Amino acid sequence: MSDCIFCKIALHEVPSEIFFEDDEILAFKDIQPLAPVHLIVIPKIHLQSLNDVTLEHERLMGHLFGVIRRLAKELGVAETGYRVVTNTGTDGGQVVGHLHVHLLGGQALNATIG
Ligand code: 5GP
Ligand code: ZN
Repeated sequence: MSDCIFCKIALHEVPSEIFFEDDEILAFKDIQPLAPVHLIVIPKIHLQSLNDVTLEHERLMGHLFGVIRRLAKELGVAETGYRVVTNTGTDGGQVVGHLHVHLLGGQALNATIG
């Protein structure tokens, strides 16, 4: 989508600090990190949110979570622990309207929800 910041990052039209990339997935550092490890992991195709995910995307979503698992290991947080978060819609606090998963770790994270 032409006015989507994460599509632009996926197309390398906007620079980002990339940690993983293949044809389908991109993982890059969050511009305002909330923890020592804070990556954004996206499917390159534009899906607005989790609400747009269907059975058709089952393999892609499995691949995305496999990438997260590998990154957590590579970044040294697999054993200490980490959090994956997908904000969805207004009440979920979603600001960027391109499906993304936050990978947070490297410190003890606040346990509160909401
Ligand atoms: P949301 O609240 O939509 O789940 O979070 C969007 C995240 O994307 C925020 O943590 C924000 O810091 C990050 N973000 C927004 N714009 C950019 C950008 O242009 N580059 C990068 N690397 N991260 C961004
Ligand atoms: Zn997009």
